[in-house]
Amino acid sequence: MANITSLRCRECSREYPVQAINVCEYCFGPLEVVYDYEAIRKVASRQRIERGPFSMWRYADFLPADYNPRIDINAGFTPLVRCYNLAKQLGLKELWIKNDSVNPSYSFKDRVVAVASAKALELGFDTLACASTGNLACAVAAHAARAGIKSFVFIPSDLEAGKVLGAAIYGPTVVAIDGNYDDVNRLCSELAETYKWAFVNINVRPFYADGSKTLGYEVAEQLGWRAPVHAVVPAASGAMFTKIHRGLTEFADMGLIDGVPTQMHLAQARGCAPIATAFEEGRFVVKPVKPNSVAKSLAIGNPADGYYALKTIEASRGSGTVVDEDEVAAGMKLLAQTEGIFAETAGGVAISALVRLARSGRIKPDEPTVVYITGNGLKTPDPVAGVVKPLRIKPTVASFESAMAARVA
Ligand SMILES: *Cc1c(COP(=O)(O)O)cnc(C)c1O
Ligand SMILES: [Zn+2]
Repeated sequence: MANITSLRCRECSREYPVQAINVCEYCFGPLEVVYDYEAIRKVASRQRIERGPFSMWRYADFLPADYNPRIDINAGFTPLVRCYNLAKQLGLKELWIKNDSVNPSYSFKDRVVAVASAKALELGFDTLACASTGNLACAVAAHAARAGIKSFVFIPSDLEAGKVLGAAIYGPTVVAIDGNYDDVNRLCSELAETYKWAFVNINVRPFYADGSKTLGYEVAEQLGWRAPVHAVVPAASGAMFTKIHRGLTEFADMGLIDGVPTQMHLAQARGCAPIATAFEEGRFVVKPVKPNSVAKSLAIGNPADGYYALKTIEASRGSGTVVDEDEVAAGMKLLAQTEGIFAETAGGVAISALVRLARSGRIKPDEPTVVYITGNGLKTPDPVAGVVKPLRIKPTVASFESAMAARVA
């Protein structure tokens, strides 16, 4: 059984029994899972984790749902890649990419859905649903297919084709809405009152959000049981950003790592940067914006966890970076061409933020740094389509040689 006791309001601390709710009835604050850390402390050890499955479920003691093979698609335990070329280019000594683009449905959203969907089955739901900026739809539809249950995925109608197809292939009902993500989310919040479905990022959000803690645990384990000095993370709602830090601090509290020196750096693109802008302007109040960004997976204009993300920046002595829209594709190309990793637009945002942080001296050469690559570039090819310019030749050596000569000239 999961080591949890209840849900608790982040604002007024009122507690609720474990169930599918996400806001406090008294103050409308968001609810969080309360863990039984005494029980976790009794069992948790490096050896126990190292003996576990090669998936995020090796951290099951720290998760709010029980492992359920019926819905598991093997999310997590993705590579942590040491980056020598990019590090050299930026003058850094120890740079790592957490490559979550190779999850089963090609984004980190498999982690959050793994937990939310396992909990949804536990709570007796027979239908999964979500309000999605794209990757979440893919992850929800894949998990539902695996479990043989229904799913409904609600998306803005202007999503990238790769994400719509990447969800539709698993057989969900895809609902495309004329509006942006914030409209989709508002509609889904209303639907969640009537339809008895597990909306993974609405009524089961407290469980969902904690799936991202595994991005902290895994990096700590893969670095040889230590936390990095810097983490660079792309943000939409800001939930993943806060939970990576939570994962690291839980490991320190449980004695699995020595401490958490990690400065958390949040990255957003100019066309939708409400959290990073609030940081730059020294505010803890996030002003909603109307998204217009090539980084569609980050296009949440009214981020649910924006305030908590700003608190995480403050507590970790981190920062927020806004990158320009044209830096998104530049970051995607830079990572692909230095390290052989094809990230989606959110990864381009993170890499360009890293470039800015390294160039400005905010990240110093000998400080170990991890950049989170959260989604796969094959879902968002359009911004980098310009790289496709093959040498067009006849199938003869002469034709090849004249084409090569022309290219050199
Ligand atoms: C959803 C998403 C994010 C942002 O996650 P939040 O928890 O909403 O901040 C980042 N990268 C990718 C690829 C995503 O799909
Ligand atoms: Zn409350």
